[in-house]
Amino acid sequence: MNENYLYRKKHEQDKTIIKIKNNKICQGNFTFIAGPCSVESYEQFFTTASDLKKTGVNIIRGGVFKPRTSPYSFQGLREEGIKILSSVKKELDIAVVTEITSITQINLFDDVDIIQIGARNMQNFEFLKEIAKLKKPVILKKGFSNTIDEFLLSAEYLLINGCSDIILCERGIRTFEYKTRNTLDISAISIIKELTHLPIIIDPSHSGGIDKLVYPLSLSSIYAGSDGIIVEVHNDPKNALSDGEQSITPKDFERLYTNANKIFNYKVENNI
Ligand code: PEP
Ligand code: MN
Repeated sequence: MNENYLYRKKHEQDKTIIKIKNNKICQGNFTFIAGPCSVESYEQFFTTASDLKKTGVNIIRGGVFKPRTSPYSFQGLREEGIKILSSVKKELDIAVVTEITSITQINLFDDVDIIQIGARNMQNFEFLKEIAKLKKPVILKKGFSNTIDEFLLSAEYLLINGCSDIILCERGIRTFEYKTRNTLDISAISIIKELTHLPIIIDPSHSGGIDKLVYPLSLSSIYAGSDGIIVEVHNDPKNALSDGEQSITPKDFERLYTNANKIFNYKVENNI
């Protein structure tokens, strides 16, 4: 690998600290990004987001352009969903994260604080170049069949095209195991942490695919070096229009929030 790649970590001090609202991602704290898989209605998004805000989260996710395996599955509220994100963002004074799935959507993303590039688009290179030009913070998810080097080279596409605020996200890879949706690649977290100055978070929802796995996967990632999590939280998972089986309730999230902070702080204080 070329030592001059921009993602390369040279010194601890070179760590990229990304500021979003009152959060400093990658600076002595564990970052929580939470919210429903899909924005389904104003009420649903507002209720979930305000519960999460009460717990202490002010970066809220909600998909509006959904990359679904089946064309018959809910495709997202699209433009209407963006309007909901904007108004809840203003009302609750939160930052919002949503996925872009086509370059034609770019002019709808003015009000979006962090643009998510999904696993399926990680290697859509022309797409990466165009998104980088917006110079907005980006969450880049690792493809489920991609190597760490490929992942970091995709980050490099963003970096050399002007996007410096990149949050890398390990969201599980495809393996022979069928009891889980994907397999969280714990070693990838530690290796990526060694190689780059960029923050790395995990997605315990898409990696496990099961609500009960969100808690243990999130906590395990802390010792591996994760800077945070992006997690699916729904006020009524049984009736969710997408990914209900892997969504936790705001109440379950509260327990996760408390204990993840405890473990993270213990790790920092004891230099583990
Ligand atoms: C999502 O976060 O809703 C999503 C579709 O994630 P991924 O790209 O990791 O599958
Ligand atoms: Mn989802």
